[in-house]
Amino acid sequence: MAYKVQFVNPAKCYRKMKPELDAAYLDCMENGELIDRRHLKRFEENLAAFVGTRFAVGLNSGYDALHMSLRAAGIGPGSEVIVPSHTFVATCSAVVNAGATPVLVDVGADFNIDAGKVEEAITEKTKAIIPVHLNGYMADMERITDIAERYALAVIEDACQSLGSSIKGRKAGAWGLSGCWSFYPFKILGGYGDGGAITTDDPAAAIFARRMRYNGEDRTTGEYHGHGFTSLLDNLQAAFLDVKLKRFPDNIKRRKEIAGMYREGLSGIPGLALPHYDRPGFDHVYQNYVVRSAHGNEFSEFLKKSGVEVLTQFRKPYYLHSGLKLSDRSFPETEALSREVCSLPMNPELEDEDVDYVIKTVRSFHFACQE
Ligand SMILES: *Cc1c(COP(=O)(O)O)cnc(C)c1O
Repeated sequence: MAYKVQFVNPAKCYRKMKPELDAAYLDCMENGELIDRRHLKRFEENLAAFVGTRFAVGLNSGYDALHMSLRAAGIGPGSEVIVPSHTFVATCSAVVNAGATPVLVDVGADFNIDAGKVEEAITEKTKAIIPVHLNGYMADMERITDIAERYALAVIEDACQSLGSSIKGRKAGAWGLSGCWSFYPFKILGGYGDGGAITTDDPAAAIFARRMRYNGEDRTTGEYHGHGFTSLLDNLQAAFLDVKLKRFPDNIKRRKEIAGMYREGLSGIPGLALPHYDRPGFDHVYQNYVVRSAHGNEFSEFLKKSGVEVLTQFRKPYYLHSGLKLSDRSFPETEALSREVCSLPMNPELEDEDVDYVIKTVRSFHFACQE
């Protein structure tokens, strides 16, 4: 079924930037620049400058960014790593595949790890915390940094959904040992295939990632410094991402405008919670606009039937998937929000009339419910 309002609209996004994206493509193709060339270097410099770190290293994916960061921090078998119980599964899988044990902690009303519950999860084996900045809104990094300092833990930020967000002006990805980025097409800065990066101030972590993404090789000397991976961000993807990074601040402005329209149109509806937290100093960039509806699937199905494409990530918490073999503890907040989450369309390609249609549809659902 063709939706009246799409969740994302990559073709429309392309049309808006076609001349610059086509020029980037031709520049790579005509010069035969494919692997580890100018465009990658330039994008890494611009990404590091945007985030406010000394280094950025382009990788294959957000998953690889997490995995590489854990390796850089020396985390492996015998280590425990604290992760939130509500996140994309890759946060946890990176820990498992590094050989370490994930220790899950419940989230708060803002969908991010509950900093008040972190300390009780720390043991002698704990080596790191991975706070996830979900949906474009940062976890409480002041409290998490404080805990990490007191227990000498590494902090690896899963910032895959929050490029551009900040707390008191300090950007996501500039707090921990590293910030991990995904450029999967539908992320806030998306490429045209898989892609990722880390940002870091730590020269050793940057050098480690630069070598490990290239099978452990130091590309100037040819020396292998360890068993690595094939995990380089494609030069072509980097060229596209660099074009999109220039437009990125305008896109965030538009996302905030749309969030403002949703807030105005949807505030005060009983049984509908909106993602506005108003914590001083926290800047939300709205990678996703996730509402909570007491009506769960009835609400999300109604929207879909009415032509509004929505996502319900995640109805089933990842730790309840038996194949992941994670011990099934209970995380009450995660379970409550999982029944209720619904991401409304949120992308810079939305027109005001699209947003109005979503608002009208949501209101009509709740109006019908009250009869
Ligand atoms: C997308 C995402 C990842 C993984 O990124 P990939 O590029 O798909 O590997 C990890 N964590 C979070 C929170 C994400 O949203």
